Amino acid sequence: MLGTTPTEFPGGEWEQRYEEALRGVLASGAATDFSSSRHDTGGRIVHRLIRLTPERDRSGMVTSVLAVGRDITELMEQREKIHSLAFFDFVTGLANRALFNDRLAQSITDARWHATQLGVLLLDLDRFKAVNDTLGHNVGDALLREAGARLSRCVRDYDTVARLGGDEFAVLLPEIRDAQSLSGVADKILVAFAEPFLLDGREVAVGASIGIAVYPNDSEDADGLLKFADLAMYAAKHAGGQGFRYYTAEFTIQAHERLRIETELRHAVERRELELYFQPKVTMTDGRLIGSEALLRWKSSAFGMVMPDRFIGIAEDTGLIVDIGAWVLREACAAARAWNAAGVPHKVAVNLSPRQFADGSLEERIAEALSATGCRPEWIELEITESLLLENAERVRGTLEALRAMGFSIAIDDFGTGYSALSYLTNLPIDVLKIDRSFVKDMMSYASKAELVRTIIAMANSLSMHLVAEGVETEEQARFLLDNGCVVGQGYLYGKPMPKHELRVDTGDA
Ligand SMILES: [Mg+2]
Repeated sequence: MLGTTPTEFPGGEWEQRYEEALRGVLASGAATDFSSSRHDTGGRIVHRLIRLTPERDRSGMVTSVLAVGRDITELMEQREKIHSLAFFDFVTGLANRALFNDRLAQSITDARWHATQLGVLLLDLDRFKAVNDTLGHNVGDALLREAGARLSRCVRDYDTVARLGGDEFAVLLPEIRDAQSLSGVADKILVAFAEPFLLDGREVAVGASIGIAVYPNDSEDADGLLKFADLAMYAAKHAGGQGFRYYTAEFTIQAHERLRIETELRHAVERRELELYFQPKVTMTDGRLIGSEALLRWKSSAFGMVMPDRFIGIAEDTGLIVDIGAWVLREACAAARAWNAAGVPHKVAVNLSPRQFADGSLEERIAEALSATGCRPEWIELEITESLLLENAERVRGTLEALRAMGFSIAIDDFGTGYSALSYLTNLPIDVLKIDRSFVKDMMSYASKAELVRTIIAMANSLSMHLVAEGVETEEQARFLLDNGCVVGQGYLYGKPMPKHELRVDTGDA
């Protein structure tokens, strides 16, 4: 190589530029950097940074150039990675929230300039938490990747699909024809998500809820569009999931209402606004009172009497249910203790929310309620819903077994209305089935419902479980249930939910 210039050996385009740089330093006498990115023999891109420093003789003339090269490949790769971490979600490879926000702002500017419309679509997986909890985070991540891939296949190339966090995805659809055209996209996505996901070798139904907001109809700024799409998504989820909703002003009103209830509810325990009502449970043969179900009422200073269906969902969403549930347990235990101490056996049923199981402190809180009130576990029945059993089967089973070992009995509430998986009836420690009121209500008019009730009763008997019929309102219904082998009833025929002092436990009159 001695005596040859780079262009003479080995020659090439890069050498030409390199030689020009060298000549530049010889001519100017100013040091400079020369960077190059070339494939090495293995085909890998190698980044180099070459520092070119002039060398002078005594008179100050530049006679040669010292070139010192450094391999900066790793540095460049890291820089690229940082860029991608800043703008892309590393689980799915989709745009992240920062990039989505940036593109949304840009698209709004374009839409304003060209007087076009754009859509923001938020999507949330319906059963992500259940998958993550039962199958683990790795499977959860695989689900997110597959969800992202399905979502990307449903939209145009120039739409942006992003993962905003958790199991929440967003799609930005610039230049849409009209708001209605978005329902076509939403439908397509729902069809894609209705297909089961193959996770860890098994098929899992996941489903999605979608909320849609449109520029400029719903909002003219990015924050507004995201907020409104989120409210619409919440509405879709609460309508049962696997569906979509457009934002309407009504959702904002509902959101304000929810917020007002939440704000008041935060103080309900300390302000002593909560009260337990008790609905009698009787043996239908003789009307003898054998127990009661504790039902929550909220006498709010702001709203008056509030029924559970208006605030329990909010309490669950916000986590307030954990404290409220602890209060309910304490009150129910105190009532059970007072009644049983008077010498009449009386079991109080307490409804537990799935959220109380998720909290992890349930056993501890129940033990606290017992020791604070002197109540015995056999005076308490814990009511759970079928949906709980499907969500986190293994963890729930552990908790239920521990509670059963403490001496509590366990009832399945509203039996028959959930996704009935019969296997759990034999696998889990369950003592009582409560036949849902909807079956009792219809069993005298519809042969199919009557047959269903008979089947539930036969099944409970063969599994040695006790039965309680909910919503018994007429003598005719009571007769039918008794004839078929269900002895215990609860309903208006025997008494509405009533304040503690009105329940006549001492005399046995319902
Ligand atoms: Mg109940």
